[in-house]
Amino acid sequence: MQTKPHAKARDYSSMAALSLAEDGMPACPSVAQLLHPVVPALVSSICQDILPRFHAEHDLLSLPVVDQHAKPVGIMDRHQYMEFFARPFSKEVFGKRSLSQIREAHRDAMIGAFPIAIPIVVDIATSIDDVARMIIDSDMRHMVNGVVVTRDERYVGVVHGHDLLHEITQRKQSELHYLAHYDALTKIPNRMLFSDRLNQACREALRSGREVALLFIDVDRFKQINDSLGHRFGDALLKAIAGRLLGCARDSDTVVRLGGDEFAILMEFIQTARDAEALAQRLVETMRQPFLILDRELSISISIGIAIYPRDDDQVDILLSKADAAMYEVKQSGRNGYQLFSASTTTFSSARSALEAELKQALANEEFVLYFQPQFDLAGDQVVGVEALIRWDHPRSGRLNPGSFIGLAEESGLIVPIGDWVLAEACRQHRAWMREGLPPLRLAVNISPLQFRQPDFILRVTRLLEETGVDPAFLEFELTEGIIMHDASLVLDMLSDLKNLGVHLSLDDFGTGFSNLGYLNRYPIERMKIDQSFVRGIDQMPINQSIVRSIVALAKSLGLQVVAEGVETEAELALVRECQCDEYQGYLLARPMSASEFSAWLAGRIVRE
Ligand code: C2E
Ligand code: MG
Ligand code: MG
Repeated sequence: MQTKPHAKARDYSSMAALSLAEDGMPACPSVAQLLHPVVPALVSSICQDILPRFHAEHDLLSLPVVDQHAKPVGIMDRHQYMEFFARPFSKEVFGKRSLSQIREAHRDAMIGAFPIAIPIVVDIATSIDDVARMIIDSDMRHMVNGVVVTRDERYVGVVHGHDLLHEITQRKQSELHYLAHYDALTKIPNRMLFSDRLNQACREALRSGREVALLFIDVDRFKQINDSLGHRFGDALLKAIAGRLLGCARDSDTVVRLGGDEFAILMEFIQTARDAEALAQRLVETMRQPFLILDRELSISISIGIAIYPRDDDQVDILLSKADAAMYEVKQSGRNGYQLFSASTTTFSSARSALEAELKQALANEEFVLYFQPQFDLAGDQVVGVEALIRWDHPRSGRLNPGSFIGLAEESGLIVPIGDWVLAEACRQHRAWMREGLPPLRLAVNISPLQFRQPDFILRVTRLLEETGVDPAFLEFELTEGIIMHDASLVLDMLSDLKNLGVHLSLDDFGTGFSNLGYLNRYPIERMKIDQSFVRGIDQMPINQSIVRSIVALAKSLGLQVVAEGVETEAELALVRECQCDEYQGYLLARPMSASEFSAWLAGRIVRE
């Protein structure tokens, strides 16, 4: 949401640019980076001359007011000012007066509610963290109208809380990115980053006609070592192994920990398979040298399987299973060595395609069930809604959480029929609960991006509502930011259609994926759910707290309600309450439950109340 610089604002923008160039990229970013130059109003300006600027510039959230020496004296909030002036009486009485005259007249009587509020003024070099803290300390009142920035005490621009939130969240995201992509123990990349790199390397190899080698490495008898010498020893050994792998690999290779005692090395652009074999040989020999761990000498060995792209497979995800299968053969034939995948490697099975086939069957075999997790309001701890969450009763693996199959369902397109089933089942359950005499609760259903993008999505929903006879007012669709960032006008039309059907809309996992907040006030969304990662440990992490506070302020400025997800402890709940979220959901009060557990649980609560 950017304030468009006024036509006459060029001097200010060049100042801002200059200050960035001078400062370079400071370790702790300053507000200079977020500066919006806005031509300020002079305190002697007549109110009626200023009003048209707000009318003409829709993105102008606030207008700084300065004296004749360009010293800031106030900041006008678009909403308050427009509201104030929209009343004919105000316009008549105040229209011809200057801002300073009005301010004088009302200084004592109307402070706070008056258009020229006391601004937060910061120097251009102030850090973003410090500004965030000031905004929080001022009860977030400056979240929307912003903070005035000065250089040598003279006005140079404004910074909006929205941009600040964006910046802070971006930083949080890079922190999350690190946590998600690197192994906490060994500090080398994890499976996630590995699959990114592997995909990238394979695409590049395909373009240049070269090959990529994948080494799958498993530590022999690690479990026994870990069990007999303890986890501390096991951890230290894994770190030392990672160190040796790094020592043997080339700079251009990627060494990763896949999990447990499994590692992998990605070798980009090998000349021949011999290169991979040479590295594998070196690794096997190096590992045989004794390790000194926690004052104890120990010898280990490793088994390595190698698969080459595109020779062994041109499907990246299958390549890893093939390297795994080759490794398994090394284990079978006595460990402590390496082997290339070959056509005779028989143990290979594509776990993924097996899962996909099973997923297809699951619908027909009615293996899916819905679980329900209550949502509470923070004001009175009443149950206000319930979220439907899918589970898969797998015939052999038992009950599976969506994390282990929704991704694949999405990639394979199966999410569309699965999503239809979820919606139908949720509606059916809602009717059943109503018949049982349960109070009518809002029922939230997750909608996946692919499901939403089906051309006949609205039609399917309409038909389903007719068939099940559920009052759409009790239905809420949880959408992700990914859905909303696509083709804005189409999405807007679809959301409006859903809204017209009577369905409520909320934005799930807010804060994890957005790049533009501007869309928020255009779409008919009523609620946003702050992602668990910001709520987790909110009582211990000031950055999470400032993000949650900023999101709440942003939501309030847009008239949206806020749901905090993943509240697990009393301390988190206390903070979420203090941050003025409206509702919450989390293990602290209730985990997801089956439909019958839920109705019994709810009945129990109602009796107690
Ligand atoms: P979500 O929509 O953000 O759902 C909330 C997830 O957080 C649920 O995980 C819930 O069990 C979990 N959760 C709630 N409170 C806490 C807490 O206090 N601590 C922790 N650690 N977790 C908590 P679940 O059921 O595993 O679902 C994961 C995700 O899978 C959902 O995230 C949603 O994105 C997706 N999903 C679930 N059901 C469906 C579905 O029917 N359709 C689609 N498209 N996606 C679904
Ligand atoms: Mg959800
Ligand atoms: Mg969520």
